[in-house]
Amino acid sequence: MSEQVIYLNGEFVKKEDAKISVYDHGFLYGDGVFEGIRSYNGNVFRLEEHLERLYDSAKSVMLEIPHTFEEMTQIVVNTLRENKFKDAYIRLIVSRGVGNLGLDPYSCSHPSVIVIAEPLSLFPKSMYETGIEIVSVATRRSRSDVLSPKVKSLNYMNNILVKLEAHLAGVSEALMLNDQGYVAEGSADNIFIVRKNKLLTPPGYVGALEGITRNAIMDVAAEKGYDIQEGVFTRHDVYVADEVFLTGTAAEVIAVVKVDGRVIGEGKPGPVTNDLLESFRELVQNDGVKVYSDHLNAV
Ligand code: PMP
Repeated sequence: MSEQVIYLNGEFVKKEDAKISVYDHGFLYGDGVFEGIRSYNGNVFRLEEHLERLYDSAKSVMLEIPHTFEEMTQIVVNTLRENKFKDAYIRLIVSRGVGNLGLDPYSCSHPSVIVIAEPLSLFPKSMYETGIEIVSVATRRSRSDVLSPKVKSLNYMNNILVKLEAHLAGVSEALMLNDQGYVAEGSADNIFIVRKNKLLTPPGYVGALEGITRNAIMDVAAEKGYDIQEGVFTRHDVYVADEVFLTGTAAEVIAVVKVDGRVIGEGKPGPVTNDLLESFRELVQNDGVKVYSDHLNAV
């Protein structure tokens, strides 16, 4: 297999040479935005939606991405082509760039643009068949009026604390509540609960990121005739749900079979989760920007 290359500020460089300055404000202050995207079978899933969210995040924090939307599309496609990947997780990062030690973003003249693509399965394959156990943790989702969860910034300390707590409890993922105690999301994934064939997921204002996988699942479920809605709910509703599952670009769709020691449903992935997972797998195989078709030209 040829060596993995990474897009770094206009060039493709070998993985071991993909380095940025310690004065980059992405490193010093988490000042930047990012996206996690997936390509399946040579199709980049919902690339436009991911780039829209990236540009919205950047606009919100006054970070000017030094590429047009079309150029960015091409950069993502070219990163996959350079690596000859059909199935990969793609991490796109735009940081404020190199500045001085102070936090003033005006000391940074050029944003850094990085695209990494590599194969990734977030959880071991077996967990997608058995489902996972999660716990709710003390760390709360940052309030929407402090740092909006809609901004996918490089400031992920909140989410990292959640992951730490999950590991301390001996599980690999956790449930984050918002400051009022309502269910928000996982450390980097959205949550759905199913009760009597009705699906519910927290709305953005509760503190959930409006995940692209979440939205795709909502579309798929609606098309299949499920009653699916956004709604505010508590841990109690999670405990008594028939099924619970998480969605995210990295996590994809994974069943949750135990929450805070309570067995969910039958303690195995339920029929609605399995049905939606199957439809999602079908959808991603064909839907998306075609990496290896000719209308996208190498830049
Ligand atoms: N919530 C958070 C905090 C996340 O970081 C992610 C991953 N981007 C998600 C939810 C899931 O979003 P998506 O389906 O767009 O990957």
